[in-house]
Amino acid sequence: MASTLPYDVQSIRSEFPILQRKVKGKSLVYFDNAATAQKPKQVIDAITHYYSHYNANIHRGLHTLADEATAAFEASRAAVQAFIGAKQHEEIIFTKGTTESINLVSNAWGNVFLEAGDEIIISSLEHHANIVPWQMIAERKGAVIRVIPIDADGRLDMEAYKKMLSSKTKMVSVVHASNALGVINPIEQIIQLAHQHGALALVDGAQSAVHLDIDVQSLDCDFFVFSGHKTYGPTGVGILYGKRHILESMQPYQGGGEMIKEVSFEKSTYNELPFKFEAGTPNIADVIALQFGIDFISRIGKAAIRQHEAELLAYASSKLRLVEGLKIRGDVEEKVSVVSFTIEGVHPQDLAILLDNQGIAVRTGHHCAQPLMNCLGVVGTTRASFAAYNTIEEIDILIEALNKSLKMLK
Ligand SMILES: *Cc1c(COP(=O)(O)O)cnc(C)c1O
Repeated sequence: MASTLPYDVQSIRSEFPILQRKVKGKSLVYFDNAATAQKPKQVIDAITHYYSHYNANIHRGLHTLADEATAAFEASRAAVQAFIGAKQHEEIIFTKGTTESINLVSNAWGNVFLEAGDEIIISSLEHHANIVPWQMIAERKGAVIRVIPIDADGRLDMEAYKKMLSSKTKMVSVVHASNALGVINPIEQIIQLAHQHGALALVDGAQSAVHLDIDVQSLDCDFFVFSGHKTYGPTGVGILYGKRHILESMQPYQGGGEMIKEVSFEKSTYNELPFKFEAGTPNIADVIALQFGIDFISRIGKAAIRQHEAELLAYASSKLRLVEGLKIRGDVEEKVSVVSFTIEGVHPQDLAILLDNQGIAVRTGHHCAQPLMNCLGVVGTTRASFAAYNTIEEIDILIEALNKSLKMLK
């Protein structure tokens, strides 16, 4: 049950050891959460505890340590299942990140089901991780990639999407919330339309999983992918959710231990789900720690965090709009807590260096979305992205530092 107490941001901050540190003599202001979130002590401790107390390989051993490690590993799978509302734990596959999850699908599904002339639809808002794997499989199979255009504010052109769909469409793979702009896409409608044309739908949830309530069964997506490190968990762990019957119909992604039932030199038979897609020794420590990142979110409550972040976003946006020559990119209603902007006559990189000198971490550049930057006609943006532990005071520090930097740059 989520707490009904007022949102206590100072107590939340105290759970994140890194927030105590200084950068260039100033208290760290961390606004690069869309690249990776900081980790609560619970997550850090879980990794140390695993290596100090029950490090063992999983699923095979017949000894106490192996049993404990297997139980903790599978508890993470159950936590992820509950976090996104999957029907069965077999539908949760551990990978090393969103990137690997999409590569797994593009290969293990695409190798079986894609043929020359088939079409894959992505959008102009995609991260490179949801572009390049599709280009690679499309090239091998002779399939064609089509791209949903956006308007000047980063909203998808849904009419263009509808016209693009046909019996040739085999896969629609679209980001739920843009990492570069924060814009939330009408994902339910995108999925429904894909299904009406007999196509599958993959949702890149790398940004949405941490901010929005996710229920893969009501979304009815065929695949949902995200990264542990953007949900207060460790790096090196990703999630692939897939509907069971679709995962069953796919080829394994990698061959090796764990993913097989029986092996002879002539032929091997594959293991059941989810192990069919988890070849080799997985990232046991980080998978185990992931459940504590999810636990942090559940304990504070996603709705409470979302409300706090919405206040930060509204406050930051209103202050930024007052800065001369500044334009917020993707300035729409439906957004996660990301604010991306450009300033006339200022190169984002110069600004980032001056902000870092004042202890402030923001992201600048193309945000792994170069085609999107081309659509917007910019080389890059400066992006501030907010998490559960950020404060209004930190935004004031950013605005003050920004104004000071602009005096030096202009
Ligand atoms: C971060 C991100 C990715 C890639 O995630 P990795 O953890 O680097 O694999 C893909 N899509 C979006 C929208 C992202 O924000």
